[in-house]
Amino acid sequence: MRCRKLEHRFVHFVPERLEPGVLYISLEFCTASHSCCCGCGEEVVTPLSPAQWRMTFDGESVSLWPSVGSWTLRCRSHYVVERGNVRIAPQWSEAEVEAGRQRDRAALERHYETPAAPPAPPVPPPVAPAPHEAKTGNWWVRLWRWFVGG
Ligand SMILES: [Zn+2]
Repeated sequence: MRCRKLEHRFVHFVPERLEPGVLYISLEFCTASHSCCCGCGEEVVTPLSPAQWRMTFDGESVSLWPSVGSWTLRCRSHYVVERGNVRIAPQWSEAEVEAGRQRDRAALERHYETPAAPPAPPVPPPVAPAPHEAKTGNWWVRLWRWFVGG
């Protein structure tokens, strides 16, 4: 973890080149961005919304919740930003990453109240062949086998 502290900077637009150790916060666009604290230089975007991240500004420093899990990055960094301090959180296992993704998706869907896909038309129950049909079939099969000498 190269950056142990994140200095906040309120901006209108997040700049293209992120200075390491700076958490850029755009209230207009409800998003925060920073250069990954491990030093890999990847941009970590944390959209601010009730279903995603919330940012707390106490007048001196900024906290982000929940933790920043950069599972989309190669470095797989995972940390919590608490009052400007970067606290390393345990590494995510594959299962936790997947569970986290599903949780996020569910939270987002709840937040935006995405209407569910229309229900599929009901599938008629399979029709069982009538007994006499089955017998006829067998009879024909037997006749055919006899005919071809099988
Ligand atoms: Zn990184």
